[in-house]
Amino acid sequence: MKTIFRRIIDRELPADVIYEDERCIAIHDIHPVAKVHALLIPKKEIPRLSSAEAGDQELLGYLLVVATTVAAKLGIAETGFRVIINNGKDAGESVPHLHLHLLGGEPLGWKHG
Ligand code: IMP
Repeated sequence: MKTIFRRIIDRELPADVIYEDERCIAIHDIHPVAKVHALLIPKKEIPRLSSAEAGDQELLGYLLVVATTVAAKLGIAETGFRVIINNGKDAGESVPHLHLHLLGGEPLGWKHG
């Protein structure tokens, strides 16, 4: 069974694409929790952060670098943004295909601060 994100990558489902290269795709989240809410998704299907292996190290670093590129495209690189990975049940992970949330466009609360 393909995940929603695999189907978006394969263009079987529509998405509002912000950025794409050979290793990842960035789309607008369909249910934004901040004024700006994007998802950065590696094309390699790693179920979640805790499933990543040593060979994924370079890809994980690459995603963090691209996150800033995506933030710049969204106009939030200067004002600030937050990068979140939900890993597992308690974190609220709902799609088992690794993805980074990029939040910004307004001051963000921090419940656990
Ligand atoms: P998670 O809860 O960290 O797994 O994040 C999954 C995210 O995917 C949620 O914020 C959803 O709103 C988002 N989402 C689910 N389906 C779609 C879609 O078809 N397009 C864009 N975002 C989606």
